[in-house]
Amino acid sequence: MHFGHLPAGYITSKLLYGKLEHRAPVQREFMLWGMVGSVAPDFDLLYYFTIGQFKLHHHNYFTHYPLFWLMLLIASPGWMILDRNRAQRTASAFIFTFSGFLHTILDAFSENFLLLAPFINKQFYGPAYLPKALTRIPFWNYGLELLVILWAAYLWLKSPESTAAIQEKPDERKAATGRVPAAPKTSTRISDRVDLRKKMPANPA
Ligand SMILES: [Zn+2]
Repeated sequence: MHFGHLPAGYITSKLLYGKLEHRAPVQREFMLWGMVGSVAPDFDLLYYFTIGQFKLHHHNYFTHYPLFWLMLLIASPGWMILDRNRAQRTASAFIFTFSGFLHTILDAFSENFLLLAPFINKQFYGPAYLPKALTRIPFWNYGLELLVILWAAYLWLKSPESTAAIQEKPDERKAATGRVPAAPKTSTRISDRVDLRKKMPANPA
């Protein structure tokens, strides 16, 4: 997967937030760590492009080992349970590792990956384990990426954050200007229009 990691991180963070809301009062922080985790394995590209000098594909680095992320993922709920302060950072650690693990699985859908590394250094080719009816479709992997992106866009559009981003709230305008926004000059309510007509003087004949 190339373009769908960040949207996938958004989807998982959004869906899991409902389950972990009691441990993560600040939703933005939870979402942020989930989305950072969704691209964290690809931070190894910095090494690949510099010190690594393109010699070994970055999917062979430990940062792309599914088992590495799985171990972190197993440890993070333990921290959440043991933390007596019920701090948000434990929920952030969980969503970060969950998204990191998901990244390695999504990469495996279309390319070689080291499923059992560091214990067994054997490459597995993900598409070989998928239904042939799917992999025969031209550009099927990009189609999957598009579905992930569309799913994330759908979740964002129906979220309160998107409404807030599109429509500025009156309270926020007041905070920004220090003044209460002026009320609309004309009313659109039918009852108000009827009242207005009663107050108008009769037409001089
Ligand atoms: Zn990757």
